[in-house]
Amino acid sequence: MKELVVISGKGGTGKTSLTASFAALAPNAVLADCDVDAADLHLLLAPDVRRRAEFRSGHAAVVRAEACVGCGRCAALCRYEAIAPATRPDDGARVFAVDAGSCEGCGVCVWNCPVRAIDFPEQACGEWFVSATRFGPLVHARLAPGAENSGKLVSLVREQARGLAQEEKRDLVVVDGPPGTGCPVIAALTGATGVLIVTEPTVSGAHDLARVLELASHFKIPAAVCVNKWDLNPEQTDGIEAAARTAGAMPVGRVRYDQAATAAQRLGQTIVEAGPESLAGEIRAVWNNWMNLMRETP
Ligand code: SF4
Ligand code: SF4
Repeated sequence: MKELVVISGKGGTGKTSLTASFAALAPNAVLADCDVDAADLHLLLAPDVRRRAEFRSGHAAVVRAEACVGCGRCAALCRYEAIAPATRPDDGARVFAVDAGSCEGCGVCVWNCPVRAIDFPEQACGEWFVSATRFGPLVHARLAPGAENSGKLVSLVREQARGLAQEEKRDLVVVDGPPGTGCPVIAALTGATGVLIVTEPTVSGAHDLARVLELASHFKIPAAVCVNKWDLNPEQTDGIEAAARTAGAMPVGRVRYDQAATAAQRLGQTIVEAGPESLAGEIRAVWNNWMNLMRETP
């Protein structure tokens, strides 16, 4: 089974729009939306949720007011100033309470409370789903507002997608990865068969691409590059492709700027469904070139 990841150095490059078209072109694939901080592949694939589960990660301290003797040791030890005095409703006694929004889950207060009055439950940080779409199964997720650990959720979505592919004897997992170079991208790339980096022909696009290519090279993942909206700056596009080759990555095609891409999004369709054929043909060429490259990859 091959696991192919589409990423970009930053958001807004058209990565998800291209990935949705790849989903339409990928026979027998499981799709995975690992852009968990801003998941929007579902907007184009209209998933029908078949299975959902809670994503739990990390812990937060909770003082049991009835057990607290008000010594203040926890507040003195908390480096995040997440614990403050409070009044116990039952008898008006001075106790301490944790501000859940400030708690970093380090556990110091829990282990140091002399009367074991602090609970440390695991936190619900979001949900993940297995859905049916017109292009095959999709594993996707939603991170709760303000929740962290998106890298862990990315790993979970990938793991579920791979498991599903094995179960259903599908030979390909196509992943819409997160933008940037942080922890979620590392979680999306580690152990993948190949990566396609989508970029735009701008100075910042070239800069972001260099950082992402470094990451792919560090993890020894064969990298391909697609310049989206290439015709907005053909010279910059040439430079980006040359830099990609120098870094050991393969340019697999260009996709021009076309307002039809936005129109397709508004219709909830992929470009290869909505057309025009000239634009869809360019995306098809990128996909085919990438697949040919991946066929040569063990
Ligand atoms: S350390 Fe325990 S007993 Fe002391 S104030 Fe904190 S929660 Fe209450
Ligand atoms: S778990 Fe750590 S961060 Fe949270 S309240 Fe206790 S000491 Fe503070």
